[in-house]
Amino acid sequence: MTAADTAFEMGHVRRIGVVIVAAGQGLRAAGADTVPKQFRSIGRRTVLERAVACFAALPEASIVVVASASELARVRRLLDAFSNLRIVAGGTTRQQSVRAGLEALGDDPPAVVLVHDAARPFVAFDTIRRVVAAIEPDVAVLPAVSVSDTLKRAGPDGVVEATVDRSRLYGAQTPQGFDYAAIREAHARAARAGLHDFTDDTAVFEWSGGRTKLVEGSADNIKLTFPADFVRAEAMLARSHSMIDVRTGNGYDVHRLVEGTHVTLCGVAIPHTRTLSGHSDADVGLHALTDALLATCGEGDIGVHFPPSDERWRGAASHIFVRHAVELVRRNGGTVCNVDITLIAEAPKILPHREAMCAALSEMTGLDRRRVSVKATTNETIGFVGRGEGIAAIATASVSYDAASNE
Ligand code: MG
Repeated sequence: MTAADTAFEMGHVRRIGVVIVAAGQGLRAAGADTVPKQFRSIGRRTVLERAVACFAALPEASIVVVASASELARVRRLLDAFSNLRIVAGGTTRQQSVRAGLEALGDDPPAVVLVHDAARPFVAFDTIRRVVAAIEPDVAVLPAVSVSDTLKRAGPDGVVEATVDRSRLYGAQTPQGFDYAAIREAHARAARAGLHDFTDDTAVFEWSGGRTKLVEGSADNIKLTFPADFVRAEAMLARSHSMIDVRTGNGYDVHRLVEGTHVTLCGVAIPHTRTLSGHSDADVGLHALTDALLATCGEGDIGVHFPPSDERWRGAASHIFVRHAVELVRRNGGTVCNVDITLIAEAPKILPHREAMCAALSEMTGLDRRRVSVKATTNETIGFVGRGEGIAAIATASVSYDAASNE
């Protein structure tokens, strides 16, 4: 299940509100320093940024982050890059903070709402999907994991009194999911009753007469509480970063042949009785390669970066386009592994120029000669290429992206 699938499934069923509670002081995790845990970093990003990012891909989700009043400016700076997000001040207890977040969603109420602890930065889309799918007007949803350790109940002297049957015990996680109007009303009632110390929202919902259903949580959805939890979080991040991230892009281009004196293919001018017609030098090989490179980092295609309507590119040498694509790949954290171009032409003959083409490609991409390849084929006199009306090219590029590029 990808983010996009989940987003489609959820976003088009019900509008989702998300309340992320980041108002706690979290001093148990602080260890030697006293930075609240949501502001501590795991890798290059804070716990809070990671928690928000788990929900930011939901389409049309309204996200409210609840921070303590004294931290509002810091949280605004930290979450500056996220759109569709509001930051409001919390109260003195967790329950009051959640209520502030729920009320903030009230001007454009969502159908359902997820309440999530900022200290859980590793919630997976699958968990979010399961929670949203199970919400009913009078049924709250709680992601939970079964307890694997044998449980003992001990007295104040540390002496065991009983072994507890764990078969029906679960560890509660977040996000907890609710019908928006129902949980908002439950919180309002609890506040009116003078109750302010519920530690989770399904407890508020149950107190108010609702029921809670469990769905499968995830062992990776840890709540960062103690210093050792941060050690585990760094290890989890390192594990996800060890994933090999090699991406392959392809590109295709064709240009028409007209009267002329030469064609330019893969950066090499070859004398010919025809020329390729186009806005730039019409080098089909380099145009296809530019598209292949751009495809590996979601940067669109050559027309986006170098529109034919732009006079600057009239007659331009196409190595400019390739160099720009290589630079975009680099800026996105990529290293080009290899590039491969197949030219499809009846004439001129490509083979005598292949080494010059590879040298040109090597120079413009910065790649070792063994990592660039040019091949050629005719079209067996079939079709527009076979009739000599044009020349086509297909290109493939493989690019290795470092883990930090996904941050
Ligand atoms: Mg072209």
